[in-house]
Amino acid sequence: MSEKMNLSQNSANYPNQSQEEPGLQSLMSPVPDDGATSYIGHERLKYKKAIITGGDSGIGRAVAIAYAHEGADVVLNYLPEEESDAQEVKGVIQSLGREVKLVPGDLKDEAFSKRLVEEAVSFFGDPNILVLAAGKQQAEVDIASLSTQQMQDTYATNVFSLVWLIKAALPHLGPNSSIITTNSIQADQPSPFLVDYAGTKAAIKNMTFSLSKQLASRGIRVNSVAPGPIWTPLQIAGGQLQENIPSFGKNTLLGRAGEPAELAGAYVFLASDEASYITGESINVNGGVR
Ligand code: NAD
Ligand code: MG
Repeated sequence: MSEKMNLSQNSANYPNQSQEEPGLQSLMSPVPDDGATSYIGHERLKYKKAIITGGDSGIGRAVAIAYAHEGADVVLNYLPEEESDAQEVKGVIQSLGREVKLVPGDLKDEAFSKRLVEEAVSFFGDPNILVLAAGKQQAEVDIASLSTQQMQDTYATNVFSLVWLIKAALPHLGPNSSIITTNSIQADQPSPFLVDYAGTKAAIKNMTFSLSKQLASRGIRVNSVAPGPIWTPLQIAGGQLQENIPSFGKNTLLGRAGEPAELAGAYVFLASDEASYITGESINVNGGVR
């Protein structure tokens, strides 16, 4: 990790703040570290091509920027209302000399999920890496108030879109390709107010292991990353209870939330040729939650 990474911002209490879902990273205080200047690449993804969902902000953004630092070209998906965050990422990636295409759209729509892959293929040819980092999380303390619409949207975004995207990408993924999903500490240790979200993360983790078995014979590796508390828009745009924001992440062994840039290394490793013998694995990046 670079000495430039600013971790001190996580040891103080965060200021109370909230935004409408999905939120903008540029409006957060403090602004999360996306690794634009702190991540140091070593050409570990040279000539690779990655499709990354949730690439405008938080973890997906840090992954996109790290991949560019490592020599990969990227296609990024996000929601249309996040265009300004996505344009910032595009600028960083172009300044690193890599190719980038922005494809905004709603992953809850099966037809769009398919189109995202098609647009990526027409941009840079067949991808080698599929990073699935988009996610919806809305806290709801009482199951009596958990609406059918929220459950459908959370499951469609977090689970169904994974199947749609992987189905669309498979004809284009050759041997040594890497699919990386994003589960959560919530998959194993669900919070009482994340009944729907935590369930989707358990499903993602399970589905990752299932698909790793199905796709191994084609040389396609399927792995996952399980973040703990990370300072991103998801948390301040309804994902976390408002009263938990100031002390967010302090219950970890390291006593602070993680920065998105601290997740990038795991996604780089799983996508790289160094991980050629790793499949059906989930890597915890959670500050030591017990
Ligand atoms: P984030 O808000 O920066 O990223 C989530 C992204 O999901 C958004 O930027 C948005 O572009 C995308 N998204 C949501 N609904 C979408 C839809 N319908 N169509 C297309 N895109 C959609 O937050 P983040 O924390 O970086 O989240 C990234 C992933 O990490 C998510 O899967 C989340 O569940 C997971 N995660 C986050 C934490 C954390 O503490 N932040 C912990 C565990 C897991
Ligand atoms: Mg976003």
